[in-house]
Amino acid sequence: MSFTVAIDGPAAAGKGTISKAVAAHFGFAHLDTGLLYRAVGAKVLNGMEPLKAAQTLTARELEANNLRTPEVAQAASKVAVIKEVRAALVTFQRSFAARDGGAVLDGRDIGTVICPDADSKLFVTASAPTRAKRRHAELQAAGNKDSFETVLADVQARDARDAGRAEAPMVAANDAVTLDTSDLSIEAAVAKAIELVERSRSSVL
Ligand code: C5P
Repeated sequence: MSFTVAIDGPAAAGKGTISKAVAAHFGFAHLDTGLLYRAVGAKVLNGMEPLKAAQTLTARELEANNLRTPEVAQAASKVAVIKEVRAALVTFQRSFAARDGGAVLDGRDIGTVICPDADSKLFVTASAPTRAKRRHAELQAAGNKDSFETVLADVQARDARDAGRAEAPMVAANDAVTLDTSDLSIEAAVAKAIELVERSRSSVL
């Protein structure tokens, strides 16, 4: 039986951590759809044309270890504006969502465009300064020297591009539950997300 959990929200709101924990708790598979756009963005930074980069994307390219850099994040959000690039990535995401045994997909348009019929939908958010603080700490731990102000400006530029684009903009689906993690510990945010998904599961079973 398939059961799809859609988790959307802006950069560094905690979606990744929450999605992994929800998938582990329920024994579901997890797809970080941001990686698809990051992998396409990385290929474009290497000189490939965006649509070709999306059409030739392989699972192996999602494992490249340079996909978490700020440069690749910005390139990802630039290619993500292109309608044809998004269209080239739809089938892979929908097949993943429909797999037997349940799936969690996190991204920007999962509950609205990729899986509008998802069984459970969350929109995970937090204030921009809180998200920038978290991302700054992560980048520092990885040896990146960008200042907090630079990271905040990056997060805000990406938010504006992701929410302002015409195609599949980042927005909470009408039937999504919003989870604001600004004042929550990781443990509390994860517990709340599991509780919300559990609630949808009991209404489906
Ligand atoms: O989630 P992550 O920060 O890795 O995503 C990188 C970029 O990919 C986002 O800023 C967004 O532009 C794009 N993206 C998207 N739709 C998704 C997932 C990511 O447009 N479902």
